Amino acid sequence: PKPSYRWHRVLLKVSGEALAGDQTQTIDPKITMSIAREVASVTRLGIEVAIVVGGGNIFRGASWAGCSGLDRSSADYIGMLATVMNAMFLQATMESIGIPTRVQTAFRMSEVAEPYIKRRAVRHLEKGRVVIFAAGTGNPFFTTDTAAALRCAEINAEVVLKATNVDGVYEDDPRVNPNARLLDNLTYQEVTSKDLSVMDMTAITLCQENNIPVVVFNLTKPGNIAKAIVGDKVGTFIGG
Ligand code: UDP
Repeated sequence: PKPSYRWHRVLLKVSGEALAGDQTQTIDPKITMSIAREVASVTRLGIEVAIVVGGGNIFRGASWAGCSGLDRSSADYIGMLATVMNAMFLQATMESIGIPTRVQTAFRMSEVAEPYIKRRAVRHLEKGRVVIFAAGTGNPFFTTDTAAALRCAEINAEVVLKATNVDGVYEDDPRVNPNARLLDNLTYQEVTSKDLSVMDMTAITLCQENNIPVVVFNLTKPGNIAKAIVGDKVGTFIGG
């Protein structure tokens, strides 16, 4: 019998920014390796892990829209392609240490990855494979945080674990106000009414409507990813 951990199936959201590490390069292989190692340690326990990767380290649609005649929609497709690059890099890192991994894209790129098929994704997870969801939701005007909420709901994962470069949600911007307190627990209501920049409104609303809790934590602290996945206290917990 499997030991009982708090979560059985989780959706880990890794932003593009987090993959860039100290920002001197687009992707820091030390970061992808630490993600791979920590994910390996929890899949061994039988916890199923799906990952949504962002693309902000390479391209953000909103910042490029309007440039050289690029409309928002095309810019966003470029952003979605950026997430596929990150996904393939992360997959290579995971497989280099023996974690079976599949990438599924929200729009077809069949030479490099499977298309997103819910039942197939679930089957991979049940077999102990890590599934990396790439290309966001497949639609412009959305974010990979929304993709994380959406995929979490679709595959019946129990929680969105949002890995960032900060320790969690603060009452104030810690870079501006060094005395700002880290908040342990928040309701969806507090996040939206206080306009705390946790994730965009579409994403947080989707979580709220589907009763998906969100844990915001710092992936740069060793051990945190594994802690978040097994359900130990880390960062800020957002729920109903
Ligand atoms: N994007 C999109 N639709 C989606 C997800 C992402 O159009 O469903 C585009 C959008 O341009 C975004 C870029 O992909 O700026 C990279 O994703 P995101 O900014 O969410 O990445 P992160 O902030 O997590 O690095």
